[in-house]
Amino acid sequence: MLRDLSHYEQVKVANQSKLLRVLCQKPATRSELARLTGLSPATVTNLTKELIAQGLVQESRTLESVGGRPPVLLEFNSMAGKVIGVRISRTRVQAALVNLGADALAWSEELLPDHSPEAVLQAALAVVGRLCVRNRVNLEELVGVGVAVPGIVQEASGTVRLSTFLNWREVPLGSLLQEALGVPVLVQRNGNASALAECYLSGEGTVTDLLYVHLGDGIGAGLVLDGRIYSGRTGRAGEIGHNIVDPHGPPCLCGNRGCLEALVSGNALAKQGQQLAASGKSPYLQAAAQESPLTAGHLIAAALQGDAAAGELLVNAGQYIGKAVAGIVNLLDMDEVVLGGDLLEAGEILLDSLERSFYSALLPFRVPEVRLRVSTIGPKAGVLGAATVVIQHFLSKGGRY
Ligand SMILES: [Zn+2]
Repeated sequence: MLRDLSHYEQVKVANQSKLLRVLCQKPATRSELARLTGLSPATVTNLTKELIAQGLVQESRTLESVGGRPPVLLEFNSMAGKVIGVRISRTRVQAALVNLGADALAWSEELLPDHSPEAVLQAALAVVGRLCVRNRVNLEELVGVGVAVPGIVQEASGTVRLSTFLNWREVPLGSLLQEALGVPVLVQRNGNASALAECYLSGEGTVTDLLYVHLGDGIGAGLVLDGRIYSGRTGRAGEIGHNIVDPHGPPCLCGNRGCLEALVSGNALAKQGQQLAASGKSPYLQAAAQESPLTAGHLIAAALQGDAAAGELLVNAGQYIGKAVAGIVNLLDMDEVVLGGDLLEAGEILLDSLERSFYSALLPFRVPEVRLRVSTIGPKAGVLGAATVVIQHFLSKGGRY
C-alpha cells in the first residue's frame, strides 16, 4: 500500500512507475528515459538498476556509440509476472492467464448453472485453479487476478453494488475471491475493462481517451480518460443505456421512458421483433416465431436476409445509438469510439445508419478528428481488460503490490 510508504519511497515508486510506463510502450536507452520522464540521468540509472534486479526490466542490446560508452537499450520484461483475467457474464465465466504485456498464454471457461454469487464464485475459483494447474503456475506467483463484471462496482473493496444482469446487490466478490485465492483481486465493471483493453491492446495505435460502447442484450459503455478508467464518483460513469433519446418511448427498467436501453438493446429489439411478427409485417419473423421465442439474433438474421421491416428497426436503432454516442464525445472531447457486442453482427445495416447519425450529431469541427471503429479484440476484451486493470495497478506501484 502506497500510503504505508515514507515520502521518499512514494517518490521512488512514482518515478519507477513512470519508467515502466515508457518501457511498456517501447524499449529505450537510459538517456532516452531521462528525456521522456524528466528524471535526472543519475536517478534513471539507480532506479533502472533496481528494476533490472526485480526482473521487470532487462538489457536487450547495445547500440552503436556516438562517442563515449555505447548506450544499452532497456526493455520491459513482460514475462516477469503472470496475471489472470476473469470475465463474468450471465451464462459463463471466462478467464485467461496472461503475461505482464497482457498477451494471453492460456484460456479457460466454465458454464454457470445459475448466476447466484455462490455459483459464480465457485466457477471463478475453478477457472483460476485450472489455469494455474495446467500451466504449472503456483497461485502465489500470480501478480493478481482481475475480474470484469456486468454491474456497478465499488473499486476499492471489489464489491459489486448492483448488477441487474446478474440480479446482484452488494456482493463482496473481490474480498471473497481474495480470501479464497490468497492473491490480490481487483474487480472492475465490464465496460470499463473492455475500454481499457481497447485502449492498450487493440494494436490500433496509442490513444489516451476512449469511449467503448457495448451493444448487446443491454447497452453499456466504458470510459478511459487520460489513459485511466474513469468510473465517476459512485462507479456509475458509463451508463449510456439510460440516456433518454425519446421521451415518448417505451418504459425502461430504470423507471424512465425512452432510454436507449429500452429502444435499442438486444432485449428491446427482441420485443420489437415479436411485435413485428405478430403484426404480420415480417414474413421471416412470423415463420421464426413458430419455432422458438424471438431474440435480437432472429431480427438481425431477418434483416440480413433482406426482410425490410426488420432492417428498418435496425436502421432506426443505429440512428438512436449514433446520436447518443455523439453527445458523449461532444461532452468529453475524446478522439476514439469503439463499438463491441453481439448487435454488430447486423453489420452495415446497423453500422451505416449509426455512423451517419454519429458524425452528423458531432460538433462539425471535430468530425475529421474523431474515429469510430468496431472492436478488434471482440468478446475477449472483457477478460484481457480485467487482467490489464491488475497490470496497470502493479506498474503504477513501480512493480509492487
Ligand atoms: Zn433507463
